[in-house]
Amino acid sequence: MTLTEKLLARAAGKARVSAGDNIWVKADVLMTHDVCGPGTIGVFKREFGKTARVWDRERVVIIPDHYIFTADSKSNRNVDILRDFAREQGLPYFYDVIDEPGGQWKFDTSKGLLKRQYGSQYAGVCHAALPQKGHTRPGEILFGTDSHTCMAGAFNEFATGIGNTDAGFVMGTGKLLIKVPETMRFRLEGRLQPGVMAKDLILHIIGEIGFDGATYRAMQFDGPGVASLSMDDRMTVANMAIEAGGKNGIFPFDARTAEYVEARTRLNGTRSHYEPVEADADQAFCYETVVDLDKLEPTVACHPDPGQRKRARDMADVRLDRAYIGSCTGGKTSDFVEFARVVRGRRVAIDTFGVPATPEIVHDLQTTRWGGETIWDILVGSGVQMTENAGCAACLGGPVDTFGRMNTPLKCISATNRNFPGRMGHKDSQVFLASPATVAASALAGHVADPRALVA
Ligand code: SF4
Repeated sequence: MTLTEKLLARAAGKARVSAGDNIWVKADVLMTHDVCGPGTIGVFKREFGKTARVWDRERVVIIPDHYIFTADSKSNRNVDILRDFAREQGLPYFYDVIDEPGGQWKFDTSKGLLKRQYGSQYAGVCHAALPQKGHTRPGEILFGTDSHTCMAGAFNEFATGIGNTDAGFVMGTGKLLIKVPETMRFRLEGRLQPGVMAKDLILHIIGEIGFDGATYRAMQFDGPGVASLSMDDRMTVANMAIEAGGKNGIFPFDARTAEYVEARTRLNGTRSHYEPVEADADQAFCYETVVDLDKLEPTVACHPDPGQRKRARDMADVRLDRAYIGSCTGGKTSDFVEFARVVRGRRVAIDTFGVPATPEIVHDLQTTRWGGETIWDILVGSGVQMTENAGCAACLGGPVDTFGRMNTPLKCISATNRNFPGRMGHKDSQVFLASPATVAASALAGHVADPRALVA
């Protein structure tokens, strides 16, 4: 069996499963957020009754993160609905925006968009927050009401996005009917060269198979090249499995995975026991390819979908209005570090927005020093508009007052993960997906640029 089949077989209590089997699997964690949480709660109450209890308080994780830092009252209200539900159910893992359990969330526009407006429990973008807060464990099944839930496949678990109806069912029963996906294998060899990042790897792969090339399939990334990828790198790759239509992305377990997971479960006091899976010798794949990491180049996915692959060095004629670094995919500490490496001592030529994915990343950037300067200072000094209000921000457009949102038909190069029309705001805007290093080089140049000369 492949890694995904082994995970699903275990969760179904079966010795063996094959692609195409329909099986009931037990959920280890159900995650929801402010956009889908209220709908999920509505389905749960409608189907299980107004006084129903969730199947397991310890396994429901609620992370407001999407439409948070906006004056839009309906968006603010969603956070209050989540708070009421968490209190009613006694959920220990609700990462509220505010610290007052009986309070109401309201964004204060008079304080502006840049300065922190959240309390001590707020966790930021769900997919980056789940591992940081100790909710990703090898061998587990994670369902989330968000398509990029597949990011947790970096941790050797089966993680996938589900709709509100399925999530309402999981909330009440702890299980879900799943068709076992076929597995595509991407065997990684070699190592990424300076100026080339994990984002280039996944953009290369999606360019190879197309934005629907993995529809309802597992994308298994294995081979000797995995060892050179950090957990942040693996998260970037697994995150974008869905951009090829994948059901999930999955990495093998190794010492790096163990180190990360054990540190995070210890730090947060979350469940620490886990049982990783190893692939069998007799794996059956519907597709196999080898990717030589040494040969990859800075890569861009052009408007209007993540499969429109080009080399950054061939795109110098594409002039840009805006650059954006942020999101679960591209707003991690390591992403900002690579961005800062490129822009340090230089100045961006176009409007450039930076949104860390989580408050912990804000803290990392504001406390990590290169010479006398923090990384945050380097970014701000180079002209990047950095907000402390970690969250999804303009990655999916959001209300009109969202930080970095494209309210006019601009061209933007972005470290985010999705670029279908209208994704970051205006329906006629264009988004070019790239690594943080390529976004940085392009922000300096005002057109798409290869970052390698700037990191040598
Ligand atoms: S940062 Fe973007 S891709 Fe990630 S969860 Fe938020 S909206 Fe979705």
